Amino acid sequence: MSSIQAKKTVLASAGDWLARHRGAIIAAQWVVVVFYVSLLVLPVLQPLPDSDARILNNLTVFAQFLFWGIWWPFVLLSMVLFGRLWCGVLCPEGALSEWSSRFGLNLPLPRWMRWSGWPFVAFAGTTIYGQMVSVYQYPKAVIVVLGGSTVAAMIIGFVYARDRRAWCKYLCPVNGVFNMLSRLAPIHFKVDKAAWKQSYHSHKVIPIVCAPMVPMRDMQGNADCHMCGRCSSHRDAITLSVRPPNDEVVRVGPPKDARWQTVLVLFGMLGLAIGAFQWTVSPWMVAIKQSLAEWLINQNIMWPLEQSLPWFIFTNYPKQNDVFTLLDGTLVVTWIVAVGLIMGSALSVLLALANRLLGAWQTRRFHHLVLGLIPLAGCGLFLGLSATSITILKPEGVSLVWVSPVRITMLVLANLWSLGLVSGIVRQYAAPLWRKVSACVMFAGALALIDLTWWLMFWGW
Ligand code: SF4
Repeated sequence: MSSIQAKKTVLASAGDWLARHRGAIIAAQWVVVVFYVSLLVLPVLQPLPDSDARILNNLTVFAQFLFWGIWWPFVLLSMVLFGRLWCGVLCPEGALSEWSSRFGLNLPLPRWMRWSGWPFVAFAGTTIYGQMVSVYQYPKAVIVVLGGSTVAAMIIGFVYARDRRAWCKYLCPVNGVFNMLSRLAPIHFKVDKAAWKQSYHSHKVIPIVCAPMVPMRDMQGNADCHMCGRCSSHRDAITLSVRPPNDEVVRVGPPKDARWQTVLVLFGMLGLAIGAFQWTVSPWMVAIKQSLAEWLINQNIMWPLEQSLPWFIFTNYPKQNDVFTLLDGTLVVTWIVAVGLIMGSALSVLLALANRLLGAWQTRRFHHLVLGLIPLAGCGLFLGLSATSITILKPEGVSLVWVSPVRITMLVLANLWSLGLVSGIVRQYAAPLWRKVSACVMFAGALALIDLTWWLMFWGW
């Protein structure tokens, strides 16, 4: 047996293990639920940390470090390594949503929920609101953003679709991001169509409930599959298998209507998210704020500099010396939206030019080229989120000399991966070689623009 076949066998058995051990998975999910709820609730009951608080002597700092420094970055990384295994096996929100659906109203899914724009709108809303209330710093903000999302997931589960995960499939704020990143994973549940067809004649088939409602027979990749394993070996046709990591992006490509996916990548992951990570370190933001403040003072308009709003609208912690005035809060939101629009528009233009360089305009090809940016977009989210852990680690006295080399290495690898993807994508379309090379050069321009934003954040400013 070749080593690949041996690997497949081990993987296939792992898939079957997941299918046979639902009890163990559900037990693990409840452990994560208890841990997650404790991290959400306990810090709110403590006083806010003072300047001496550290990861190991203060629960709030510990929870901050764990949520934003470890949990989220490594969940993102897990998508690229194992697909959406996190969603199907460990996610507390998905588990609670599915659990509540068992006791609920079982109403059919309404049309509004199936709108394909939700992944972008939910991601954009959470990203902007998270910055308005300083979600990385304050437990009350965490409980509103993450806890609010969990309560909404349970309500949606209770009202709609028994034993399904309607929230995860349609409304979860990170569903779109996970959908994108999981396309890069080197493992997937592979469907053997011939075996599936054969099973119509030769088997008594036990029906499977796929919680995120994936049409299993036609499944072509990881984007919607939560890797829960329930369908492993179903009809002797579904097997956990290895695949080339570029296969889903290059060969399967975008779905029929990929408009909102494209908006999510260009304006969300590479736009709003970059704005949200960078506004705190941008000297341009400080300069704009100072000019605006001076102008307001000269006009004798003082209320935007004096008024604040409750903490659940704009950050408001006077004892911590951390209060957003109306001017601060409005500027933060404007900055994030502006960066989203500028980055999204500039990247759209560059990729539209790359598309045109390949020949007459093809909308599907444009969406396909956008998928080539996923590695760098995912790397940016990882670096942006892990910047919080670095900030928390600084006062701990941990040596951070490794941080810059690791960041550079990750960015270089992500750029190379994106270039590898786009060279595979352009090969899918008939065009002379010079056109393909020109399109790749234009795509590299888009990568350079994204790299510039990270250079500014980590080294330039
Ligand atoms: S297709 Fe559905 S049942 Fe099968 S592993 Fe994916 S999420 Fe689970």
